[in-house]
Amino acid sequence: MTRRCDVAIVGGGPAGSSCARVLAAAGLDVVVADKAVFPRDKVCAGWITPDVVEALALDLADYAAGRTLQPVLGFETGIIGGHRVTTRYAEPVSYAIRRCEFDTYLLRRCGAEVIEGTAVEGIERTPQGWALRLKPAQHEEPGPGAAGRATPRPRLAIAAPVLVGAGGHFCPVARWLNPSEPPSPTLVVAQELELRLEAPPTSGVAPELPALYFCRDLRGYGWCVRKGEYLNVGFGRQDADGVAEASRAFLAWLRSCGRIPAGFPDRWHGHAYRVWGRPVRRVASDGVLLVGDAAGLAYPASGEGIHPAVVSGQLAARHILGAPSNDPGGRPDAYVAALERAFGVPSATGPAAWPLPPRLYAVIGRSLIAQPWFARRHLVERSFLRRQPRASRSAPTPPR
Ligand SMILES: Cc1cc2nc3c(=O)[nH]c(=O)nc-3n(C[C@H](O)[C@H](O)[C@H](O)COP(=O)(O)OP(=O)(O)OC[C@H]3O[C@@H](n4cnc5c(N)ncnc54)[C@H](O)[C@@H]3O)c2cc1C
Repeated sequence: MTRRCDVAIVGGGPAGSSCARVLAAAGLDVVVADKAVFPRDKVCAGWITPDVVEALALDLADYAAGRTLQPVLGFETGIIGGHRVTTRYAEPVSYAIRRCEFDTYLLRRCGAEVIEGTAVEGIERTPQGWALRLKPAQHEEPGPGAAGRATPRPRLAIAAPVLVGAGGHFCPVARWLNPSEPPSPTLVVAQELELRLEAPPTSGVAPELPALYFCRDLRGYGWCVRKGEYLNVGFGRQDADGVAEASRAFLAWLRSCGRIPAGFPDRWHGHAYRVWGRPVRRVASDGVLLVGDAAGLAYPASGEGIHPAVVSGQLAARHILGAPSNDPGGRPDAYVAALERAFGVPSATGPAAWPLPPRLYAVIGRSLIAQPWFARRHLVERSFLRRQPRASRSAPTPPR
């Protein structure tokens, strides 16, 4: 049986649900297909900035009812094995959430039909648009908190004039658009583990002060994020070589300085994603757009990917709504231009973008990271919270 709709979205993470919500609110018939049954876990630290709350118009009181929402009042930062600096604020500057709850909340409220437990395994271009072949994934029945208007028996196919690829880094639509991709310097390889702590919680990390510890070569960092009674520990690098060994050493160091309980296991869950930089993936073609991790949009300075996922999902939806009826999906180059307006023109990332030779850059960076003023202004506020420096914040808007 084929389910026909106006827009088919592959993937129900923050990018897919944000796109679906805007399209469904405008009256389009939208179907989201996800291979997972929600609530599902996503390998992630689960840290969101106030920009995410604003972009999603999240009612924090409603969200917090029965879910974990940990206000963040600052950060502990430093070099792994080195000096640590604490930066505090009077008001929350971020929040820590659990992805199993957050993604389900967003998908439930999106207003589209959601087909869960069904992997998209075939994509075909047709004269009318797109035909998707679906295959029931491992979990066939929706879970107790199944998202959206879940369909109990997965359908076999979806047909739509417009296709949105929101399936994360390994999205089948991204693969269809980029059939042979060389290894990319923009790839981040990351691992994490989120566990409920024994009562009373025994982590040395305060719930309101997540900890971020950088590698000595500044090519990655590890974190400890407390979310109420949960602790999320992880490690990521923009250079896949040696990640496993470096993350084991990171965990041993955290144990030795009491940041994690002695028995904290090292059963990491790994994942990869791309930051926005050169070379970019092909993110659009006639009638098809990529959003979120599928497009490789995470912020290079921090690895934050939820905000760009939400913003690009909404952007793609508006692009589709603004397209003329004889050109479903709109012009691909106009979508690329909209992404560049939102996230900047992609440039080189990592050591290729550093103004000094990597060793010298790392030596200078390490000594700066130990300084409280640098940690506050540059590391926390500019790199992680993406706050503009004062001068550019107050700069007048140029006349149009
Ligand atoms: C270890 C780690 C820590 C991170 N920490 C943070 C953080 O603290 N804050 C932050 O902002 N970002 C963080 N990120 C990045 C962030 O997790 C991603 O950028 C974000 O999840 C992207 O959202 P998305 O909707 O594009 O993709 P996803 O959240 O990955 O959702 C994609 C969906 O597509 C579905 N799917 C995939 N393939 C198919 C298929 N064939 N058929 C049907 N469905 C399919 C999947 O089941 C999934 O539900 C982290 C990433 C990692 C790896």
